[in-house]
Amino acid sequence: MERHYEHFARGYDHHKRYDERWRRIRNRYISSHPLCERCQSQGRYAEAKLVHHIKPLSAGGTHDESNLQSLCISCHEKIHQRRKSE
Ligand SMILES: [Zn+2]
Ligand SMILES: [Zn+2]
Repeated sequence: MERHYEHFARGYDHHKRYDERWRRIRNRYISSHPLCERCQSQGRYAEAKLVHHIKPLSAGGTHDESNLQSLCISCHEKIHQRRKSE
């Protein structure tokens, strides 16, 4: 499990920029969207663990709320696995 998290923490480019501004935006977003949005849309309830950029920063995405999504760990991994196989 620990190993998994380590991998997860340094995995994805668009989550590397943990600057102060982003941390504030993320905390605010997750407190107003405390449940995983992907699970919710499928009628399930899971606690959101992180905020994902729908359009990656590396592709010109922003920290705007319209580009953010609260996700649980497993949904987040699924989204990134899908991208990798594209
Ligand atoms: Zn989820
Ligand atoms: Zn992500």
